[in-house]
Amino acid sequence: MKNYLSILQEIREEVLPLLGRGKVASYIPALENVDSRRFGMALVTLDGEAFVIGDADERFSIQSISKVFTLALAFAKLGEDLWKRVGLEPSGNPFNSLLQLEYEKGIPRNPFINAGAMVITDVLISNFDHPKAAILDFVRQLSGIDDVYYDYDIARSERETGFVNAALANYLKSLGNIENNVETVLDVYCHQCAIKMSCRELAQSFLFLANHGIIPSGNTRILTTSQAKRLNAIMLTCGFYDQAGEFAFRVGMPGKSGVGGGIVAVIPGELAIAVWSPELNEHGNSLAGIKALELFTTKTGRSIF
Ligand code: GLN
Repeated sequence: MKNYLSILQEIREEVLPLLGRGKVASYIPALENVDSRRFGMALVTLDGEAFVIGDADERFSIQSISKVFTLALAFAKLGEDLWKRVGLEPSGNPFNSLLQLEYEKGIPRNPFINAGAMVITDVLISNFDHPKAAILDFVRQLSGIDDVYYDYDIARSERETGFVNAALANYLKSLGNIENNVETVLDVYCHQCAIKMSCRELAQSFLFLANHGIIPSGNTRILTTSQAKRLNAIMLTCGFYDQAGEFAFRVGMPGKSGVGGGIVAVIPGELAIAVWSPELNEHGNSLAGIKALELFTTKTGRSIF
């Protein structure tokens, strides 16, 4: 078994000069209350080994990484019917584009842009009596950590200032692609984005996607092999919004980012890796995080290609 620790340490040294070059997300005011110089990485393997460096055990706001959890939960429940309401193509546009939703008549391009994720949240609200509790239970099951919680201040901050998301949800509702009350959809959506987890917990919770849909510790099946393949394919093509092509090109792993500065990626059959650095690039993806993952696949010679 490879000792990844020295590689992670080397990566950290090489990306440290990038800190200060990006911008912490401020359009959700509560997200700004973070030390922009934090940096952590965690790598977990299918045989249960973990390698961590820096702030890998500090929790942060997972934001859009939550879209992988809600999609997995909805996919497990609804199967292929899901794709009647949301598409499967990369958006090539910012994650909160109103223009694209209007062009495409209320069928969001994919489940990882905000409009698509809100349709998935709506599916969960229709299928669970207590959707917020169901989402937390699911994340706890995937990570094996019982005390994963919502950060209520961040959820409230986004709910109070998320005017573009409110516009997207209302537009979806007007075209019949939201079944539930718009306020309820926005409330659940803002909470799922406000889940707090560390790099180690996130990497752990993505291992089922590296293992054909089965949580390796405990052997619990979450998705079928085909569904896990499909979810990984959506991460590869859509996980980084209008930078998805560049991420596939530079890094070569399916993954998902969030505006809290986290990124999680997997190599099926091997490992899951998470990185956190709060400063973002112009696409809303962690600037040093992307570089760190690029260095990881370059230095190890590992990727999905
Ligand atoms: N909660 C954020 C939003 O809806 C999530 C965006 C992201 O992480 N890319 O704007």
